[in-house]
Amino acid sequence: MSTRVIDGKRLADNLIREVSEQVQHLLDADLPAPGLAVVLVGEDPASAVYVRNKIKRAREAGMRSIEKRLSEDCTQETLEAIIEELNQREDVHGILVQLPLPKHLSAERVIRLIAPQKDVDGFHPHNVGLLATGQASLIPCTPLGCLEILQRELGDLSGKHAVIVGRSNIVGKPMANLLLQANCTITVVHSKTHQANLLARQADILVAAVGQPELIDESWVKPGAVVIDVGINAVEQAGKRKLVGDVNFSKVAPFAKAITPVPGGVGPMTIACLMKNTLVAAQYARDQANGLHHTLS
Ligand code: NAD
Repeated sequence: MSTRVIDGKRLADNLIREVSEQVQHLLDADLPAPGLAVVLVGEDPASAVYVRNKIKRAREAGMRSIEKRLSEDCTQETLEAIIEELNQREDVHGILVQLPLPKHLSAERVIRLIAPQKDVDGFHPHNVGLLATGQASLIPCTPLGCLEILQRELGDLSGKHAVIVGRSNIVGKPMANLLLQANCTITVVHSKTHQANLLARQADILVAAVGQPELIDESWVKPGAVVIDVGINAVEQAGKRKLVGDVNFSKVAPFAKAITPVPGGVGPMTIACLMKNTLVAAQYARDQANGLHHTLS
């Protein structure tokens, strides 16, 4: 079987180009460029890399970025005051708090404080509820990126059986809701599922969001399935640090119709979808200012 290795970087570049064209329309109409605020607490090196990439991509898309860096020992009150300030600022359309936060801080409280129309990560319970009830909302970037990949790869997803491995709030659950809305039949498997690989083996679409390096081998995959690997795991191999997914690429690829690699698959699309969400939030703010009342889409 010839397997397509999905080029997430190329898809992300295309999406960023589409977003930057829309940004140009806003500028042509004398409207401000979309503003993305990124809040980083502490010195976690992986988080710092993610934030740097997000800011770089925002600039490529023609957006403004506002970076707020807080020390590792900052208090909940200080962090919440920053969010309140960003909620009020008219030049800020999207607010992202890089997770995980240091242990003494409550991510839940911070997420709830972000104005839902600026919640470009799509984690606020308001947006979660809209997504779960099939209404337009800001959608978490990683599952949105996976959906974009699947639709570009397969076209109409109606009637496909999708198995999602993992039930986290940021990937597994929103992925299930999105694919349900795309008319897939959904199975979600998780750490307490018995013989998860046998269920996964029935999937036309397999999305792995487990956080276990290379857990998914060929026993989980129906020949001809499309495999989306969300995992990003840093491992040591032959004395070198490298990134691997949740899927064992070399074992699974020969059986898949198409597969995302790690790195270079879902990761770049996640950041591109953040830009898309920031654009949607800016368009929404413009329409609200013009007295047009519509929902986010
Ligand atoms: P999580 O730890 O919050 O959730 C993992 C899920 O996997 C849980 O629901 C758990 O029940 C399930 N699970 C664990 N072991 C299992 C097993 N043996 N069989 C079946 N299910 C099992 O993780 P998360 O935040 O959803 O992230 C998952 C992975 O995706 C991680 O590697 C993370 O780094 C990566 N990630 C990547 C991006 C991206 O931009 N590409 C974004 C977010 C997360």
